[in-house]
Amino acid sequence: MGKSFMPKIRIERELRRFQLEGLQWTVNHVYKNSDFYRKQFDEAGVKPKHIRSLKDISKLPFTTAKDLQEGYPFPLRSAPFEKIVRIHASSGTTGKRKVLCYTQKDINDWANMFARCYEMAGLTAKDRVQIAVGYGVWTAGVGFQLGVERLGAMAIPIGPGNIDMQCQFLEDFQSTVLCATASMVLLMGEEIEKRGLKGKIALKKVIMGSERSSDAMRTKMKELLGVDHVFDITGLTELYGPGTGIDCAHHEGIHFWADYYILEILNPETLQPVEPGETGEMVVTTLRKEASPLVRYRTRDLTRIIPKRCSCGSILPMHDRLLGRSDDMFIIRAVNVYPGQIDHILSNTKGVGSEYQIHLNRKEDGKDYMTIKVERLEGGDPSGDMALVNTIEEEIKKQILVSGKVEIVDYGSLPRSERKSKRVFDHREI
Ligand code: ZN
Repeated sequence: MGKSFMPKIRIERELRRFQLEGLQWTVNHVYKNSDFYRKQFDEAGVKPKHIRSLKDISKLPFTTAKDLQEGYPFPLRSAPFEKIVRIHASSGTTGKRKVLCYTQKDINDWANMFARCYEMAGLTAKDRVQIAVGYGVWTAGVGFQLGVERLGAMAIPIGPGNIDMQCQFLEDFQSTVLCATASMVLLMGEEIEKRGLKGKIALKKVIMGSERSSDAMRTKMKELLGVDHVFDITGLTELYGPGTGIDCAHHEGIHFWADYYILEILNPETLQPVEPGETGEMVVTTLRKEASPLVRYRTRDLTRIIPKRCSCGSILPMHDRLLGRSDDMFIIRAVNVYPGQIDHILSNTKGVGSEYQIHLNRKEDGKDYMTIKVERLEGGDPSGDMALVNTIEEEIKKQILVSGKVEIVDYGSLPRSERKSKRVFDHREI
């Protein structure tokens, strides 16, 4: 056995004590070294000495994407420039990019977290890891590579696209692990089938990040590539980058590194904690980050805690896959609904495609109604529509606790968009 990157902590009480120490270190550090955070804390009337227990985290002010954009080019910076060894930035689709600074210790911590991901997925120094995610100012490629090297496995850095080279490397270098986005993995799977390479490659595992994916997609990946496991890696640029959590071989949820950051799941409206197991917004506070620490950073990503210990026995807690963004939330009959929850149900229903629309109406009775239009699968038989409608309506009621009417429409009848499609159409008068 080589070096392990798992925490040495064995009991939950110890983990909580470790978190409190990290939280106290962080609030002291940012109060002392960041003008931004000191101002935030002063405005909220909170001093580092007020943080005496983990519950006191609720006294701390939130940090948002807007704070990062307004602080451009070096937002949240809490270390002097001579200690900063690198920056990364988000791709920045709207407004300014979010730029994050790293000290050497931050880079080391990130490498350890990433090596832990690979260890969690069962990789060893014998593995050969083909990295087909992007290299550049964003955190993806370099993070995947750092982790491979820290683990002691062999990195094969290619970047995305370049299908010919990908296939050649899979065959010539006998790569055992492929890291890519879900759509890239599917594309590779189809190519490998087309080229008849399945018997000539040695892939055992796929690690994918940064895109939502369904169980149906996973099954297809396993079939096409002949791999045993497909793992979901999580992370965001603000929080080091990818590598801050992954599922283990039991696939019961995504283990996250509670010894590096605190994850709160809050109701995005009230900003109060939801019940364990309920869906809410992920809010993260780092425990060791030096250059750009996060204090109650609102990620806008939605998930839920899986309120049980994983069968693997790890002390590291789990959250569910991401269920979309809190900005997209709507309220119907006093229930908060996230399009991602509907998406999740549809993507796990056989017979329907990936295009759908959610329509909200208020009828004469004064009540709100939700109708979901979803396309039948290409070439699907309309005689199965009734059964599909029943299945989906039941699942919605069971999982979201609200009723919805489902309409199956012909394949290709809903508009396509190159960009993110509009899903929710609210026709209610406000
Ligand atoms: Zn596990």
